[in-house]
Amino acid sequence: MTRSLGIDIGGTKIASAVLDHDGTVMDVETTPTARGGDLILEQIAAIVDGFAGKYDLPGIGIAVPGDVNPITGIIRSAPNIGWTDLDIVEHVRALLPAEAAVRVDNDANAAAWAEYRFGGHPRTDSFAMITVGTGLGGGFVINGRLLRGATGAAGEIGHLALVPGGDSCPCGSRGCWERYASGSALQRASVAAGWDNPTAGQDVLSAAGTHPAAHQVVEGVARDLTRGILLLSSALDPSLVILGGGLGSDRRFLAIAQEALAGAEVTPPRSRPQLRTAVLGPLAGAIGAADLSLEPADQKTEPEASRTGTNSADKVHLSGIIPQVPNYA
Ligand SMILES: [Zn+2]
Repeated sequence: MTRSLGIDIGGTKIASAVLDHDGTVMDVETTPTARGGDLILEQIAAIVDGFAGKYDLPGIGIAVPGDVNPITGIIRSAPNIGWTDLDIVEHVRALLPAEAAVRVDNDANAAAWAEYRFGGHPRTDSFAMITVGTGLGGGFVINGRLLRGATGAAGEIGHLALVPGGDSCPCGSRGCWERYASGSALQRASVAAGWDNPTAGQDVLSAAGTHPAAHQVVEGVARDLTRGILLLSSALDPSLVILGGGLGSDRRFLAIAQEALAGAEVTPPRSRPQLRTAVLGPLAGAIGAADLSLEPADQKTEPEASRTGTNSADKVHLSGIIPQVPNYA
């Protein structure tokens, strides 16, 4: 029986899950993340050692919050856990028998893959997961494949410019989507509307069902979330969008976001995706990483940056076919 281990390294905790070939979670472990990149590597070695003593593990997947190249296995930057230019795949492979497969992916992409494969959502092969927590992140499965992009950075949607020239963002840009649609955006909007305390966002969400002013604040955030979702839908056409994260998986927020999406103008050929909440919670990243570790070689999406040479179309000579462009000068 094929089993794999997924290790999701978060800023505050490391979640690990052993997954059966059909998605059954066989074993789970959660431990607080140590402070310092080297200490975290020691924690990973201990986790791998512990599970490898109990299970035969042909695959290990690592999910990391940061800039990760899933083909080279190199984590370019993961500031929350103190890693820069770290070859995590080589590090973990050294702990295992030579034939074991080791993969690394961005945590949001791993979580999206887990929800797509094992979330029990309506069947579709074009799917998005948007994590609405302190910030905003995403992962996409399009035509049945995890969308990784040219450098593995596909899905970094929180800093799309939703409002040109809008609020300044710590990333250095202005008007980023997560400034308007996230848990911290709800907190800021709630404080601005008069709920001035550290839990204002949660208080407003709790009051949204009975208090019109609170409902209006949540509705504003939900509307900005759905505006971005419809922009993404124009480009990627998912039929289902799953909301995860602290705010995104709140059912009260989902209901208001569904209303906002239903009320938005959507003209053909754009379509309105279905909106639901994530179900796998804090284990999603570990489950997705475990499953992706056994991804067949022909399913791997090779980022463009790791290829050499040119696409074959570059070699086609079109000069005799393309009509001369008229000169209007
Ligand atoms: Zn930004």
